Amino acid sequence: MTTARPRSRGAPDSPAAPPPWTEGLELTDEQRTAQAGFADFARREILPHADRWDREEHLPGEVVRALADEGHLGAWAPREHGGAGLDPVTFGLLNEALGHACSSVRSLLTVHSMVIRAVTRWGGSRLRSRWLPALASGTAVGAFALTEPEAGSDVASLRTAAEKTADGYRLTGGKRWITFGQAADVFLVFARCDDGPAAFLVERDAPGCTVEPVTGMLGTRAAMTAHLHFDGCAVPAEALVGRAGFGLNAVAADALETGRYSVAWGSAGLARACVEASARHAAAREQFGRPLAQHELVQRLITEMAVNTSAARLLCLRAGRLLHSADPQAVEAVWSAKYFAARSAFRAAADAVQVHGARGCGPDAPVQRLLRDAKIMEIIEGTTEIQQTVIAQSVVRELAGPAGLSAPAQNRGVHSGG
Ligand SMILES: Cc1cc2nc3c(=O)[nH]c(=O)nc-3n(C[C@H](O)[C@H](O)[C@H](O)COP(=O)(O)OP(=O)(O)OC[C@H]3O[C@@H](n4cnc5c(N)ncnc54)[C@H](O)[C@@H]3O)c2cc1C
Repeated sequence: MTTARPRSRGAPDSPAAPPPWTEGLELTDEQRTAQAGFADFARREILPHADRWDREEHLPGEVVRALADEGHLGAWAPREHGGAGLDPVTFGLLNEALGHACSSVRSLLTVHSMVIRAVTRWGGSRLRSRWLPALASGTAVGAFALTEPEAGSDVASLRTAAEKTADGYRLTGGKRWITFGQAADVFLVFARCDDGPAAFLVERDAPGCTVEPVTGMLGTRAAMTAHLHFDGCAVPAEALVGRAGFGLNAVAADALETGRYSVAWGSAGLARACVEASARHAAAREQFGRPLAQHELVQRLITEMAVNTSAARLLCLRAGRLLHSADPQAVEAVWSAKYFAARSAFRAAADAVQVHGARGCGPDAPVQRLLRDAKIMEIIEGTTEIQQTVIAQSVVRELAGPAGLSAPAQNRGVHSGG
Protein backbone atom coordinates (compact mmCIF):
# COMPACT_ATOMS: atom_id res chain seq x y z
CA MET A 1 0.00 0.00 0.00
CA THR A 2 1.34 3.42 -0.87
CA THR A 3 0.95 6.21 1.65
CA ALA A 4 0.50 9.36 -0.37
CA ARG A 5 1.49 12.55 1.41
CA PRO A 6 -1.70 14.45 2.23
CA ARG A 7 -1.85 17.52 0.06
CA SER A 8 -4.70 19.93 -0.35
CA ARG A 9 -5.59 20.41 -3.99
CA GLY A 10 -8.04 23.20 -3.29
CA ALA A 11 -10.77 24.28 -5.64
CA PRO A 12 -10.04 24.21 -9.40
CA ASP A 13 -9.62 27.99 -9.40
CA SER A 14 -7.37 28.00 -6.36
CA PRO A 15 -3.72 28.91 -6.88
CA ALA A 16 -2.77 27.14 -3.61
CA ALA A 17 -2.00 23.78 -5.19
CA PRO A 18 -0.13 23.66 -8.48
CA PRO A 19 -1.84 21.60 -11.21
CA PRO A 20 -0.25 18.31 -12.31
CA TRP A 21 1.69 19.73 -15.24
CA THR A 22 3.59 22.07 -12.91
CA GLU A 23 4.55 19.43 -10.36
CA GLY A 24 7.88 17.68 -10.18
CA LEU A 25 9.59 20.63 -8.58
CA GLU A 26 10.67 18.40 -5.69
CA LEU A 27 10.31 21.03 -3.02
CA THR A 28 11.09 20.30 0.59
CA ASP A 29 8.21 20.09 3.05
CA GLU A 30 9.17 23.52 4.41
CA GLN A 31 9.15 24.99 0.91
CA ARG A 32 5.74 23.47 0.17
CA THR A 33 4.35 24.86 3.42
CA ALA A 34 5.77 28.29 2.60
CA GLN A 35 4.39 28.04 -0.95
CA ALA A 36 0.88 27.36 0.35
CA GLY A 37 1.16 30.30 2.75
CA PHE A 38 2.33 32.66 -0.03
CA ALA A 39 -0.54 31.55 -2.28
CA ASP A 40 -3.04 32.01 0.53
CA PHE A 41 -1.74 35.52 1.26
CA ALA A 42 -1.85 36.48 -2.43
CA ARG A 43 -5.37 35.10 -2.83
CA ARG A 44 -6.64 37.03 0.22
CA GLU A 45 -4.75 40.30 0.11
CA ILE A 46 -3.78 40.89 -3.51
CA LEU A 47 -5.72 39.06 -6.21
CA PRO A 48 -9.16 40.57 -5.40
CA HIS A 49 -7.75 44.11 -5.76
CA ALA A 50 -5.20 43.75 -8.56
CA ASP A 51 -7.41 44.99 -11.41
CA ARG A 52 -8.53 48.02 -9.40
CA TRP A 53 -4.98 48.95 -8.43
CA ASP A 54 -4.05 48.64 -12.10
CA ARG A 55 -6.87 51.02 -13.10
CA GLU A 56 -6.01 53.47 -10.30
CA GLU A 57 -2.26 53.21 -11.06
CA HIS A 58 -1.64 53.14 -7.36
CA LEU A 59 -0.74 50.60 -4.70
CA PRO A 60 -2.31 51.54 -1.36
CA GLY A 61 -0.17 51.76 1.74
CA GLU A 62 -2.23 48.96 3.32
CA VAL A 63 -0.93 46.35 0.91
CA VAL A 64 2.65 47.47 1.53
CA ARG A 65 1.98 47.13 5.26
CA ALA A 66 0.37 43.72 4.73
CA LEU A 67 3.46 42.55 2.85
CA ALA A 68 5.64 43.95 5.63
CA ASP A 69 3.53 42.37 8.40
CA GLU A 70 3.86 38.97 6.72
CA GLY A 71 7.63 39.46 6.63
CA HIS A 72 7.62 39.39 2.82
CA LEU A 73 9.46 42.68 2.39
CA GLY A 74 12.28 41.21 4.49
CA ALA A 75 12.29 37.93 2.57
CA TRP A 76 15.71 38.52 1.05
CA ALA A 77 17.30 40.13 4.12
CA PRO A 78 19.50 38.05 6.43
CA ARG A 79 17.99 37.02 9.75
CA GLU A 80 20.68 38.82 11.73
CA HIS A 81 19.35 42.08 10.30
CA GLY A 82 15.71 41.27 11.03
CA GLY A 83 14.85 39.63 7.71
CA ALA A 84 13.33 36.25 6.92
CA GLY A 85 16.56 35.03 5.30
CA LEU A 86 14.65 32.86 2.83
CA ASP A 87 16.63 30.38 0.77
CA PRO A 88 16.61 31.26 -2.96
CA VAL A 89 14.01 28.65 -3.92
CA THR A 90 11.57 29.78 -1.22
CA PHE A 91 12.21 33.42 -2.21
CA GLY A 92 11.42 32.37 -5.78
CA LEU A 93 8.15 30.75 -4.70
CA LEU A 94 7.16 34.02 -3.01
CA ASN A 95 7.84 35.91 -6.23
CA GLU A 96 5.86 33.33 -8.17
CA ALA A 97 2.84 33.69 -5.88
CA LEU A 98 2.92 37.49 -6.07
CA GLY A 99 3.53 37.44 -9.84
CA HIS A 100 0.55 35.12 -10.22
CA ALA A 101 -1.68 37.66 -8.47
CA CYS A 102 -0.27 41.07 -9.44
CA SER A 103 2.97 41.96 -11.20
CA SER A 104 2.97 45.46 -9.69
CA VAL A 105 3.14 43.98 -6.19
CA ARG A 106 5.79 41.51 -7.31
CA SER A 107 7.82 44.39 -8.76
CA LEU A 108 7.78 46.09 -5.36
CA LEU A 109 9.32 42.96 -3.86
CA THR A 110 11.82 42.87 -6.75
CA VAL A 111 13.27 46.37 -6.44
CA HIS A 112 13.10 46.38 -2.64
CA SER A 113 14.99 43.08 -2.53
CA MET A 114 17.57 44.41 -4.99
CA VAL A 115 18.32 47.27 -2.59
CA ILE A 116 18.45 44.87 0.36
CA ARG A 117 20.88 42.68 -1.54
CA ALA A 118 23.14 45.62 -2.42
CA VAL A 119 23.22 47.03 1.12
CA THR A 120 23.72 43.60 2.70
CA ARG A 121 26.56 42.60 0.43
CA TRP A 122 28.28 45.91 -0.27
CA GLY A 123 27.16 48.48 2.31
CA GLY A 124 29.44 49.69 5.11
CA SER A 125 28.61 48.72 8.71
CA ARG A 126 26.95 52.09 9.51
CA LEU A 127 24.81 51.92 6.37
CA ARG A 128 23.84 48.31 7.09
CA SER A 129 22.89 48.95 10.71
CA ARG A 130 20.97 52.11 9.77
CA TRP A 131 18.99 50.72 6.81
CA LEU A 132 18.78 46.94 6.88
CA PRO A 133 16.44 46.63 9.89
CA ALA A 134 14.12 49.25 8.35
CA LEU A 135 14.18 47.63 4.91
CA ALA A 136 13.74 44.15 6.38
CA SER A 137 10.76 45.17 8.48
CA GLY A 138 9.26 47.17 5.63
CA THR A 139 9.17 50.40 7.60
CA ALA A 140 11.31 51.73 4.75
CA VAL A 141 10.90 50.82 1.08
CA GLY A 142 13.82 50.80 -1.35
CA ALA A 143 13.95 51.44 -5.11
CA PHE A 144 16.67 50.79 -7.69
CA ALA A 145 17.75 53.74 -9.85
CA LEU A 146 20.09 52.89 -12.69
CA THR A 147 18.40 53.75 -16.01
CA GLU A 148 18.92 57.21 -17.49
CA PRO A 149 17.71 58.96 -20.64
CA GLU A 150 20.93 57.98 -22.45
CA ALA A 151 21.70 54.80 -20.50
CA GLY A 152 19.17 51.99 -20.91
CA SER A 153 20.55 48.62 -21.99
CA ASP A 154 23.97 50.25 -22.19
CA VAL A 155 24.29 51.11 -18.52
CA ALA A 156 27.99 51.90 -18.84
CA SER A 157 27.06 55.16 -20.56
CA LEU A 158 25.41 56.56 -17.44
CA ARG A 159 25.96 60.30 -16.98
CA THR A 160 24.69 61.14 -13.51
CA ALA A 161 27.72 62.67 -11.81
CA ALA A 162 28.91 62.28 -8.21
CA GLU A 163 31.25 65.08 -7.26
CA LYS A 164 33.37 64.53 -4.15
CA THR A 165 32.88 67.16 -1.42
CA ALA A 166 34.49 67.70 1.98
CA ASP A 167 32.00 65.44 3.77
CA GLY A 168 30.47 63.29 1.04
CA TYR A 169 29.24 63.59 -2.55
CA ARG A 170 27.01 65.85 -4.60
CA LEU A 171 24.86 64.12 -7.23
CA THR A 172 23.72 65.79 -10.43
CA GLY A 173 21.69 64.09 -13.13
CA GLY A 174 18.49 62.12 -13.58
CA LYS A 175 17.06 58.60 -13.49
CA ARG A 176 14.18 57.24 -15.56
CA TRP A 177 11.38 54.69 -15.13
CA ILE A 178 12.09 53.94 -11.48
CA THR A 179 9.71 51.32 -10.13
CA PHE A 180 8.13 52.55 -6.88
CA GLY A 181 10.02 55.79 -7.29
CA GLN A 182 6.82 57.57 -6.20
CA ALA A 183 6.69 55.76 -2.87
CA ALA A 184 10.19 54.57 -1.93
CA ASP A 185 11.95 56.05 1.09
CA VAL A 186 15.41 55.38 -0.24
CA PHE A 187 16.95 54.97 -3.71
CA LEU A 188 19.99 52.97 -4.76
CA VAL A 189 21.42 55.47 -7.24
CA PHE A 190 24.26 54.82 -9.66
CA ALA A 191 26.49 57.74 -10.60
CA ARG A 192 29.88 58.38 -12.11
CA CYS A 193 32.63 59.76 -9.86
CA ASP A 194 36.34 60.35 -10.48
CA ASP A 195 37.17 56.71 -9.70
CA GLY A 196 34.43 55.35 -12.00
CA PRO A 197 30.82 54.27 -11.48
CA ALA A 198 29.61 54.12 -7.90
CA ALA A 199 26.39 53.32 -6.03
CA PHE A 200 24.82 55.54 -3.36
CA LEU A 201 21.90 55.06 -1.02
CA VAL A 202 20.00 58.34 -1.33
CA GLU A 203 17.17 59.27 0.99
CA ARG A 204 14.05 60.50 -0.73
CA ASP A 205 14.03 63.78 1.16
CA ALA A 206 17.72 64.54 0.57
CA PRO A 207 17.99 68.19 -0.51
CA GLY A 208 18.23 68.42 -4.29
CA CYS A 209 16.35 65.15 -4.94
CA THR A 210 12.95 65.49 -6.62
CA VAL A 211 10.50 62.81 -7.72
CA GLU A 212 8.41 63.15 -10.90
CA PRO A 213 5.54 60.63 -11.02
CA VAL A 214 4.96 58.81 -14.33
CA THR A 215 1.43 57.74 -15.24
CA GLY A 216 -0.10 55.91 -18.20
CA MET A 217 2.45 53.08 -18.33
CA LEU A 218 1.59 50.10 -20.53
CA GLY A 219 1.91 47.55 -17.74
CA THR A 220 2.71 47.13 -14.04
CA ARG A 221 0.60 50.27 -13.79
CA ALA A 222 0.30 50.15 -10.01
CA ALA A 223 4.09 50.09 -9.62
CA MET A 224 4.12 53.85 -9.08
CA THR A 225 6.89 54.57 -11.54
CA ALA A 226 8.80 57.86 -11.32
CA HIS A 227 11.63 59.79 -12.86
CA LEU A 228 14.17 61.12 -10.36
CA HIS A 229 16.09 64.37 -10.60
CA PHE A 230 19.27 65.15 -8.69
CA ASP A 231 20.24 68.79 -8.65
CA GLY A 232 23.43 69.02 -6.61
CA CYS A 233 21.92 66.49 -4.20
CA ALA A 234 24.21 66.18 -1.15
CA VAL A 235 24.76 62.72 0.33
CA PRO A 236 27.12 61.79 3.18
CA ALA A 237 30.25 59.73 2.53
CA GLU A 238 28.68 56.73 4.29
CA ALA A 239 25.96 56.62 1.59
CA LEU A 240 28.51 55.08 -0.78
CA VAL A 241 27.62 51.39 -1.34
CA GLY A 242 30.73 49.39 -2.13
CA ARG A 243 33.86 51.07 -3.44
CA ALA A 244 33.85 53.86 -5.99
CA GLY A 245 34.63 52.31 -9.37
CA PHE A 246 32.80 49.06 -8.54
CA GLY A 247 29.28 50.43 -8.85
CA LEU A 248 28.38 48.59 -12.03
CA ASN A 249 30.48 45.42 -12.13
CA ALA A 250 29.90 44.57 -8.48
CA VAL A 251 26.94 46.38 -6.88
CA ALA A 252 24.64 46.68 -9.91
CA ALA A 253 25.52 43.25 -11.31
CA ASP A 254 24.74 41.62 -7.99
CA ALA A 255 21.49 43.52 -7.45
CA LEU A 256 20.39 42.87 -11.03
CA GLU A 257 20.90 39.15 -10.53
CA THR A 258 18.43 39.31 -7.64
CA GLY A 259 16.09 41.36 -9.84
CA ARG A 260 16.33 38.97 -12.77
CA TYR A 261 15.71 35.97 -10.54
CA SER A 262 12.68 37.65 -8.98
CA VAL A 263 11.26 38.62 -12.39
CA ALA A 264 11.86 35.09 -13.71
CA TRP A 265 9.71 33.53 -10.99
CA GLY A 266 7.19 36.35 -11.21
CA SER A 267 6.87 35.72 -14.95
CA ALA A 268 6.32 32.02 -14.31
CA GLY A 269 3.54 32.95 -11.88
CA LEU A 270 2.00 35.31 -14.43
CA ALA A 271 2.12 32.58 -17.08
CA ARG A 272 0.41 30.17 -14.71
CA ALA A 273 -2.38 32.71 -14.16
CA CYS A 274 -2.84 32.78 -17.96
CA VAL A 275 -3.14 28.99 -18.14
CA GLU A 276 -5.66 28.89 -15.31
CA ALA A 277 -7.82 31.66 -16.77
CA SER A 278 -7.70 30.09 -20.23
CA ALA A 279 -8.57 26.59 -19.02
CA ARG A 280 -11.52 27.87 -17.02
CA HIS A 281 -12.84 30.01 -19.84
CA ALA A 282 -12.33 27.32 -22.48
CA ALA A 283 -14.28 24.84 -20.35
CA ALA A 284 -17.17 27.24 -19.73
CA ARG A 285 -17.63 28.96 -23.09
CA GLU A 286 -19.37 27.03 -25.89
CA GLN A 287 -19.17 27.79 -29.58
CA PHE A 288 -20.29 25.55 -32.46
CA GLY A 289 -22.16 23.38 -29.95
CA ARG A 290 -19.26 22.42 -27.70
CA PRO A 291 -16.87 24.00 -25.20
CA LEU A 292 -13.91 25.89 -26.63
CA ALA A 293 -11.74 23.37 -24.75
CA GLN A 294 -12.88 20.71 -27.21
CA HIS A 295 -11.72 22.65 -30.27
CA GLU A 296 -8.30 21.40 -31.27
CA LEU A 297 -6.78 24.77 -32.10
CA VAL A 298 -7.77 26.08 -28.68
CA GLN A 299 -6.27 22.94 -27.17
CA ARG A 300 -3.04 23.78 -28.95
CA LEU A 301 -2.97 27.25 -27.39
CA ILE A 302 -3.54 25.80 -23.92
CA THR A 303 -0.95 23.07 -24.44
CA GLU A 304 1.70 25.57 -25.51
CA MET A 305 1.12 27.85 -22.55
CA ALA A 306 0.90 25.02 -20.04
CA VAL A 307 4.09 23.27 -21.16
CA ASN A 308 6.05 26.52 -21.49
CA THR A 309 4.92 27.54 -18.01
CA SER A 310 6.06 24.21 -16.65
CA ALA A 311 9.44 24.56 -18.36
CA ALA A 312 9.83 28.13 -17.08
CA ARG A 313 9.24 26.97 -13.52
CA LEU A 314 11.83 24.23 -13.89
CA LEU A 315 14.40 26.72 -15.17
CA CYS A 316 13.59 28.99 -12.22
CA LEU A 317 14.00 26.10 -9.80
CA ARG A 318 17.33 25.16 -11.36
CA ALA A 319 18.52 28.75 -11.02
CA GLY A 320 17.38 28.82 -7.40
CA ARG A 321 19.23 25.64 -6.54
CA LEU A 322 22.41 26.90 -8.20
CA LEU A 323 22.11 30.22 -6.34
CA HIS A 324 21.63 28.31 -3.10
CA SER A 325 24.85 26.39 -3.58
CA ALA A 326 26.69 29.54 -4.81
CA ASP A 327 27.49 27.66 -8.01
CA PRO A 328 29.24 29.84 -10.62
CA GLN A 329 26.76 28.50 -13.19
CA ALA A 330 24.00 30.36 -11.35
CA VAL A 331 24.74 33.54 -13.33
CA GLU A 332 23.87 31.90 -16.66
CA ALA A 333 21.03 29.91 -15.09
CA VAL A 334 19.36 33.10 -13.87
CA TRP A 335 19.71 34.71 -17.30
CA SER A 336 18.18 31.65 -18.97
CA ALA A 337 15.33 31.42 -16.47
CA LYS A 338 14.44 35.11 -16.86
CA TYR A 339 14.73 34.98 -20.65
CA PHE A 340 12.53 31.92 -21.03
CA ALA A 341 10.01 32.80 -18.33
CA ALA A 342 9.49 36.36 -19.59
CA ARG A 343 9.02 35.22 -23.18
CA SER A 344 6.72 32.41 -22.08
CA ALA A 345 4.68 34.81 -19.98
CA PHE A 346 4.18 37.17 -22.89
CA ARG A 347 3.22 34.38 -25.28
CA ALA A 348 0.91 32.82 -22.68
CA ALA A 349 -0.77 36.16 -22.01
CA ALA A 350 -1.25 36.89 -25.72
CA ASP A 351 -2.75 33.42 -26.18
CA ALA A 352 -4.90 33.81 -23.07
CA VAL A 353 -6.46 36.93 -24.59
CA GLN A 354 -6.95 34.95 -27.81
CA VAL A 355 -8.76 32.16 -25.97
CA HIS A 356 -11.02 34.75 -24.30
CA GLY A 357 -11.85 36.54 -27.54
CA ALA A 358 -13.56 39.90 -27.03
CA ARG A 359 -13.98 39.14 -23.34
CA GLY A 360 -10.20 39.17 -23.04
CA CYS A 361 -10.05 42.66 -24.50
CA GLY A 362 -12.73 44.18 -22.27
CA PRO A 363 -11.95 46.74 -19.56
CA ASP A 364 -12.55 44.28 -16.70
CA ALA A 365 -10.66 41.30 -18.14
CA PRO A 366 -7.79 40.20 -15.91
CA VAL A 367 -6.06 38.64 -18.95
CA GLN A 368 -5.88 42.12 -20.47
CA ARG A 369 -3.84 43.24 -17.46
CA LEU A 370 -1.75 40.06 -17.66
CA LEU A 371 -0.88 40.79 -21.29
CA ARG A 372 0.15 44.38 -20.56
CA ASP A 373 2.18 43.30 -17.54
CA ALA A 374 3.81 40.44 -19.46
CA LYS A 375 5.24 42.81 -22.08
CA ILE A 376 7.07 44.65 -19.29
CA MET A 377 8.78 41.38 -18.27
CA GLU A 378 10.55 41.36 -21.65
CA ILE A 379 12.00 44.83 -21.06
CA ILE A 380 13.01 45.03 -17.40
CA GLU A 381 16.12 43.44 -15.85
CA GLY A 382 17.70 43.00 -19.28
CA THR A 383 15.63 43.08 -22.45
CA THR A 384 14.98 39.90 -24.38
CA GLU A 385 17.49 40.98 -27.04
CA ILE A 386 20.23 41.75 -24.53
CA GLN A 387 19.64 38.34 -22.98
CA GLN A 388 19.87 36.68 -26.36
CA THR A 389 23.22 38.41 -26.81
CA VAL A 390 24.54 37.48 -23.39
CA ILE A 391 23.33 33.88 -23.41
CA ALA A 392 24.67 33.24 -26.92
CA GLN A 393 28.04 34.70 -25.97
CA SER A 394 28.14 32.53 -22.88
CA VAL A 395 27.31 29.41 -24.89
CA VAL A 396 29.95 30.25 -27.51
CA ARG A 397 32.55 30.96 -24.83
CA GLU A 398 31.83 27.66 -23.14
CA LEU A 399 31.75 25.55 -26.28
CA ALA A 400 34.25 27.30 -28.52
CA GLY A 401 36.52 29.33 -26.21
CA PRO A 402 36.73 33.08 -25.61
CA ALA A 403 38.07 34.02 -29.08
CA GLY A 404 35.89 36.48 -30.95
CA LEU A 405 33.78 37.57 -27.99
CA SER A 406 33.12 41.25 -27.59
CA ALA A 407 33.81 43.15 -24.38
CA PRO A 408 30.25 43.15 -22.97
CA ALA A 409 30.27 39.36 -22.88
CA GLN A 410 33.01 39.48 -20.26
CA ASN A 411 30.89 41.84 -18.20
CA ARG A 412 28.96 39.28 -16.12
CA GLY A 413 25.68 40.62 -17.43
CA VAL A 414 25.72 44.26 -16.35
CA HIS A 415 23.09 45.37 -18.84
CA SER A 416 19.84 47.10 -18.19
CA GLY A 417 18.35 48.59 -15.11
CA GLY A 418 15.54 47.28 -12.97
C1 LIG B 1 7.78 49.28 -16.28
C2 LIG B 1 9.26 49.55 -16.22
C3 LIG B 1 9.89 49.59 -14.99
C4 LIG B 1 11.24 49.90 -14.90
N1 LIG B 1 11.84 49.99 -13.67
C5 LIG B 1 13.12 50.36 -13.58
C6 LIG B 1 13.74 50.54 -12.30
O1 LIG B 1 13.12 50.32 -11.25
N2 LIG B 1 15.03 50.95 -12.26
C7 LIG B 1 15.76 51.20 -13.39
O2 LIG B 1 16.91 51.57 -13.26
N3 LIG B 1 15.21 51.03 -14.61
C8 LIG B 1 13.91 50.62 -14.74
N4 LIG B 1 13.32 50.46 -15.97
C9 LIG B 1 14.11 50.71 -17.17
C10 LIG B 1 14.56 49.43 -17.85
O3 LIG B 1 15.57 48.83 -17.12
C11 LIG B 1 14.99 49.80 -19.26
O4 LIG B 1 13.83 50.11 -19.97
C12 LIG B 1 15.77 48.70 -19.94
O5 LIG B 1 17.02 48.59 -19.34
C13 LIG B 1 15.93 48.95 -21.43
O6 LIG B 1 16.45 50.22 -21.65
P1 LIG B 1 15.70 51.22 -22.64
O7 LIG B 1 14.27 51.23 -22.30
O8 LIG B 1 16.44 52.51 -22.61
O9 LIG B 1 15.81 50.55 -24.07
P2 LIG B 1 17.06 50.62 -25.09
O10 LIG B 1 18.29 50.18 -24.40
O11 LIG B 1 17.06 51.92 -25.77
O12 LIG B 1 16.62 49.47 -26.11
C14 LIG B 1 15.55 49.64 -27.02
C15 LIG B 1 15.45 48.35 -27.84
O13 LIG B 1 16.68 48.10 -28.51
C16 LIG B 1 17.18 46.83 -28.15
N5 LIG B 1 18.63 46.87 -28.03
C17 LIG B 1 19.40 47.73 -27.32
N6 LIG B 1 20.69 47.41 -27.43
C18 LIG B 1 20.75 46.30 -28.21
C19 LIG B 1 21.80 45.45 -28.67
N7 LIG B 1 23.09 45.67 -28.33
N8 LIG B 1 21.48 44.39 -29.44
C20 LIG B 1 20.19 44.13 -29.76
N9 LIG B 1 19.16 44.87 -29.35
C21 LIG B 1 19.43 45.95 -28.58
C22 LIG B 1 16.54 46.51 -26.82
O14 LIG B 1 16.46 45.10 -26.58
C23 LIG B 1 15.17 47.12 -26.98
O15 LIG B 1 14.33 46.23 -27.67
C24 LIG B 1 11.98 50.13 -16.09
C25 LIG B 1 11.36 50.03 -17.33
C26 LIG B 1 10.01 49.75 -17.40
C27 LIG B 1 9.35 49.68 -18.76
